[in-house]
Amino acid sequence: MSFSAIVVAAGEGLRAGPGEPKAWRRLGARPLVRWSVEGLLAAGADEVVVVVAAERLAAAGEALQGLERWRAVAGGQTRAQSVQAGLASLACPDEAMVLVHDAARPFVTASHVARLLAALETADGAVPALPVPDTLKRGESLVAETVSREGLWRAQTPQAFRRGRLGAAYGRWPAGEEPTDDAGVVERDGGRVAMVAGDPMLMKLTWPEDFLMAEQLAGGQRIVRTGFGLDAHRFGPGDAVILGGVRIAHDHGLIGHSDADAGLHALTDALLGAIAEGDIGQHFPPSDPQWKDASSDRFLVHAVGLAQAKGARLLSADLTLVCERPKIGPHREAMRARIAELLGLPIERVSVKATTTEGMGFTGREEGLMAQAVVSVETPA
Ligand code: MG
Repeated sequence: MSFSAIVVAAGEGLRAGPGEPKAWRRLGARPLVRWSVEGLLAAGADEVVVVVAAERLAAAGEALQGLERWRAVAGGQTRAQSVQAGLASLACPDEAMVLVHDAARPFVTASHVARLLAALETADGAVPALPVPDTLKRGESLVAETVSREGLWRAQTPQAFRRGRLGAAYGRWPAGEEPTDDAGVVERDGGRVAMVAGDPMLMKLTWPEDFLMAEQLAGGQRIVRTGFGLDAHRFGPGDAVILGGVRIAHDHGLIGHSDADAGLHALTDALLGAIAEGDIGQHFPPSDPQWKDASSDRFLVHAVGLAQAKGARLLSADLTLVCERPKIGPHREAMRARIAELLGLPIERVSVKATTTEGMGFTGREEGLMAQAVVSVETPA
């Protein structure tokens, strides 16, 4: 059966952790958005319109390189505006069948598509839906009530419509309200929306853990890689040091081109080492004036982005600070929290340790301090 498809990939997907917007992260060897587009093309789509943020049009070209019958268009501020931009750009007539799909649901297949298109014979829209297996509670931290789950379903995507019917329903949608899915727009407009059998495989990847589960489902082989980083900075005049992303009052400062945070520098080098992407000096040359006095969290976040672009997932980080003073202990938890935030890891997987060299060597003489870090990641084999 002939149909067109719109893949919505314009959102930021912030709940999936720091770094690239979700649709552009790798699942196995391919960017997430590519899975959906390939799935819809394999199911027989005549055309797939991928709606992306305007600044991602070039990235879409890279992510979907080598595929046919697709094009990217710029979306709007909201999901609804993005869907309408996709609808407007379709080449098909009003009576043509159109699937609207979230880029974050990578495992769409021809059988999902066939069920939806068949349901459009007798309905204005069709959604894959699953019964709710868990008991539902309403409340804040305490339960206010148990909600009956009878007759409740979880709606997934793709969702199927006739192009003209969906466009007309969006045209009459009240301004200032934001629909949560496209079927809701047709329902509000008086349309009849059929529910067809959903599939756990149509799950939406929302949280970092969802990517891990999806990797296992995708069956790609993954390996663990570990990188090591070492850095030292000299003490100089000042009244505070920045270490592990935390400002600590001290009778000296640290000298460096950036903020001289040896802790974050060592972590950055460890992460770059784990993904074999060179070292911090190559990415942020000290000769480049733009990194003068730079906050070192930028270096670490950049390395996290590089790791994600390679399909790597961070597992853990362990930082050791070597100095006589300042005392690290009182600041350890603040450092762990800040590093966890920068790496997008739960704090349980971030360690900060401290030691001295018993008065020996440059750290013992308090000429400077040193940091060593180990970072583990999981990457496609
Ligand atoms: Mg350094």
